This record gives sequence, C-alpha cells and structure tokens, in this order.
Amino acid sequence: MDLSAYLPVIVVGLFVVLFVVEKFFPLRERRAGLWARLVLNLAISALTFLTAMFTVKPSALHALNWASQKPFGLLHLASLPEWSRFIAGFLLLDLSFYYWHVLNHKIPVLWRFHNVHHIDPDLDVSTGFRFHFGEVLLSTFFRVVQVSLIGMSFATFAAYELVFQANTLVHHCNWRLPIRLERLLNRVLVTPRMHGIHHSQVRGETNSNFGVVFCWWDKLHHTLGVNIPQSRIEIGIAGYSTPEDNRLWPALTLPFRRQRDYWRKPDGKIPERDAALLEQPRTKLAE
Ligand SMILES: [Zn+2]
Repeated sequence: MDLSAYLPVIVVGLFVVLFVVEKFFPLRERRAGLWARLVLNLAISALTFLTAMFTVKPSALHALNWASQKPFGLLHLASLPEWSRFIAGFLLLDLSFYYWHVLNHKIPVLWRFHNVHHIDPDLDVSTGFRFHFGEVLLSTFFRVVQVSLIGMSFATFAAYELVFQANTLVHHCNWRLPIRLERLLNRVLVTPRMHGIHHSQVRGETNSNFGVVFCWWDKLHHTLGVNIPQSRIEIGIAGYSTPEDNRLWPALTLPFRRQRDYWRKPDGKIPERDAALLEQPRTKLAE
C-alpha cells in the first residue's frame, strides 16, 4: 500500500477533527481572536506546503532513490532483518529531527526563520504547519543529508512521514486530554502539554522539549522539562508579542529584518518562572 497517496487526506481529516475537539475541550485559554489567527496560519501554512511540495519532497525522494541504489547509508552497513531495519530507520528519522529542531533554536540564522512559528500568541492545531517558507527551504538540505545518511526504505520513509505529520498536529493541538491519559501517552510520545511548554515565552522553556514524535530524545539529552502547569504558560515569543507582529507581511519579513531581543517584552520585562515551580521534578508532567 502506498501510504503517501493517502497522506494529504489523512492530514486534512485529522486537522478538522482536532480543530473541533480543541474547541470543545480546550487546554489553554485563548489570548487572540481565533479567526484572524486561523486565516494567517492557513496562509503561512499554504506557503509551507507549496515550498515543501516543490523542494523538500522531490529532493528527499531523489536522495532516497540514490541511497537505495548505491546502497548508501547507516542501515546498509549491517545485514539486518527487514523489520529491524524498519524500526531502526524510524527511530533514526525521529532522532535526526530532534537534532534539526535543536539546531533551529541554537543557530541564529535558523532561529530567525523558526521564530515565525513560535511567535503565534496561541497554540492550537493551526500552528502545526505554520512554518516560514524559508525554514522549509533550509530544511531541504537537512532532509537530503538525513535521508542519504540513514538509507531507509521507501516504506519506512512513508510510514514515518505519516506519523510525523499526525503527531505534529496532535502535539500542537489545544486539546485537554485527561492528565492520567496524557501522562501515559507521554511515556512514549510528545503530547500537547509537553509541546505547549516548548511554546512558552520563558527562554529556558522554549529551549526544552524539542522532540517531534517520541519524547525519549529529550529525556536522553536532558532537554525534557514538563513540570510547568499549562495555566501558567504564556504562549509566544516575548519580543514579538504585539498583535502587529502577527500579521502576514511582518511575519513573512521577520527573518530579514533587524532582530529584537527575543526574550524581553515590549514593556521591558523578561518573562521568568517562579522558583517554587522550578523545584518540581522536571520529568513529571504537570496539569
Ligand atoms: Zn521550536
């Protein structure tokens, strides 16, 4: 079965379902008007998809073909049974996305573009694909290196793509899952509360929880921090938190303009977390 043929239908279907669910069971209170944000996020996402369709997808498929014909890549070094190659390929794809996300936060030029995703003043399913097209363009190089170095099969690539897109929508979603269920899911997956903390205005919290599908990479690299209650989180980037920052033209031109102090609000204050909360164990998912 060619999973990739069904991908757009599954993604759009899941988007609609999550959009309805988060409206009835919201996790965090909204700060901005939904409809204006939705129009903006869909416009930015449309550019994300167009760019991905013409650059990322053909380049990654080309690299995949090249690596399988050589054969080239880590997974060809040992003769493994097909199922273990599938699992290893799946895990390596997710681990490399973790590193790519970390680089997007640590390298200033990448952060200029990734910041456009983070300045959304609310976090919901519509934030899921709201990435600056420049970030997508830059990720093309990463995808070619990633796919060639790992050398996974087309089936692994397609299966991961589906899970990646689905979990990206789910963990951006503003859906209040029962805490016990989410704690259970969060033993394996990146969940809405975990990713909500990644979108906090507090610098140390933005620079935590980088995982996309599995939460293990954050645990392994000590970047996991899930002890912040959602009611205490202000979503966005402090330096870009005015309504004017979240219009189409300012958002699209943001990476090319002089950058502000990301972590300071327009009134000069730097969002911080009170010490009592920081004493909670970082690995216990808070409400
Ligand atoms: Zn990020």
